[in-house]
Amino acid sequence: MRRRIFLTILLISVITSSVASILTTYVYYNFYVKDSKQELKTIVTLAAEPRKWDSTASINSSVNSILKSVDYSIRFTIINEDGSVVYDNWKDEINENHRDRPEVQGAFEEGYGEDLRHSNTLSSDMYYYAVKLNDDEVLRLSREISSINSVFAGLMPMLLMLFIIVLVIVYIAASITAKKILKPINEMTKSLDDMLEEESKVNMKIYEEFEPLSNTIKDQKNKINEYINEIKYERDNISFITSNMKEGFILLNHNKDILSINKSGKIMIGNENFELKGNRNIFELTRSPEIIEKINDSIKENKHLIHDVETSDKCYRYYFSPVVEQNKIIKGLLILIEDITIQKKSEIMRSEFTANVSHELKTPLTTMIGFAEMIKEGLITGDDIEKYSALIHKEGMRLISLIEDLMRLSKIQEHTQNVEEKLINIKDISEDVVNLLKLKAEDYNVKLILNADNVVMKANNNYINELLYNLIDNGIKYNKDGGSVNIKIYEKDGLANIVISDTGVGISPKHIDRIFERFYRVDKSRSKETGGTGLGLSIVKHIAELYDGTIDIKSSSSGTRIMIKFPVKPTLK
Ligand code: ADP
Repeated sequence: MRRRIFLTILLISVITSSVASILTTYVYYNFYVKDSKQELKTIVTLAAEPRKWDSTASINSSVNSILKSVDYSIRFTIINEDGSVVYDNWKDEINENHRDRPEVQGAFEEGYGEDLRHSNTLSSDMYYYAVKLNDDEVLRLSREISSINSVFAGLMPMLLMLFIIVLVIVYIAASITAKKILKPINEMTKSLDDMLEEESKVNMKIYEEFEPLSNTIKDQKNKINEYINEIKYERDNISFITSNMKEGFILLNHNKDILSINKSGKIMIGNENFELKGNRNIFELTRSPEIIEKINDSIKENKHLIHDVETSDKCYRYYFSPVVEQNKIIKGLLILIEDITIQKKSEIMRSEFTANVSHELKTPLTTMIGFAEMIKEGLITGDDIEKYSALIHKEGMRLISLIEDLMRLSKIQEHTQNVEEKLINIKDISEDVVNLLKLKAEDYNVKLILNADNVVMKANNNYINELLYNLIDNGIKYNKDGGSVNIKIYEKDGLANIVISDTGVGISPKHIDRIFERFYRVDKSRSKETGGTGLGLSIVKHIAELYDGTIDIKSSSSGTRIMIKFPVKPTLK
């Protein structure tokens, strides 16, 4: 800007001084020419005063006395009526006829004549002025007049000086002006934010022309602020959504640079500490060949792909979706990652369960068919028939109880709204169960000790009955001869507590975590011997979960204690 101001002022000054110089030279030249002419006319008039121009000698002395009074040379010429030169103080002999010279012609015809022309003889501009001396003679005086170019050339050093002075003045003036002009602009720039405030500290009044500019800037700033706020709002919304997503979210551009990634995405892809700063490529996030391959395939083929990745303890499902513009140009790739560990596990459990059920059903049936065939073939006779029939009956009963347990379990798992829920007293149910198992306990020589308070909760009567039955039944089945099962029912801190402790064989720590799984039995032969199906504790677990209960189990070689706590006002699922 400073340079521009300087150059502009300089240009204007150069043009102005050039025009001024030319004008000055022109005016000066005109003045000079006029003055020169006037001077010559005066001299001619003086010289032409009636005097005797008789001899060359007298002419010469007159001429010399006139020339003494001027500091330039004047040419004196006396020309005859026929045009011949009678006298010339510059040249002794002139043969050229001068009659046709305009000034000579003018003098003979009108008494005087003048002309300004270039003299080839002297090769310079000459001014001629002639007056009639008498009828036969004309006196002509002439003097050299500098051409306008030489006048200009003569003025040149002075003009040059003037030009340098102008240049210096212009430089100083431009600097001061630029400073003055730029000062408020610099102030504006330095404190643009201040200026944009309503109460601006910047003195904008220096140039009122700036007011529209500052107003426009203010308007633009407000608009930009609005846009920024809108963008921020949208960005915050998106990042709020993605950061709260439990699914992993990764957005790539067409170069596979990461545009966005949420926390779950980082964790699931196995790079929790990854930070998205600047341009970071997918390779900086993961080097997994199978993920990179799927990303490449999805972008290359413009195809949605789904791929499951298993880690040591998790299973993730990756969804690769190309982000495509209307003209089918791929703009990027969206990767969603879903944790499908639970689905995968339940899938495995389901297939294991089917295999287990088939196996559990097949075993007693095979035994039954085997014995029945032996009887049919007559291989078993006499008293043995009764013994084997009892075995077939026992296996049949086991089969039925297995099927009943399975049905019960699936009913509890399905738990529909049709299941009757009402206020029940756990004490009453526990007494019923103890009565029901009294004979069994006697058979096992195990003592049942019931210690129950009135504890009321809203639940299905049969489910709580089932739960207590399975727990007390296990306490009897896996007990020692002469042992006992202690049943305590009480309410504490808004929780219904059911505690079943036995003095039985206990469960070793390595089995404890698995005994609630379906068909899991610690001692298979003992379980079968006692008519166990391996489903009892699984049913207990599902009923407890149904009423938001918690199960705590402690076991040692001297016995097992299972404690279940239900909220007395449970929320039904
Ligand atoms: P089961 O029909 O075999 O009793 P459960 O699901 O009720 O099946 O129990 C699973 C396994 O847990 C049993 O086979 C048994 O080995 C063990 N178990 C359950 N309760 C007790 C207990 N009170 N004492 C010792 N072992 C037990």
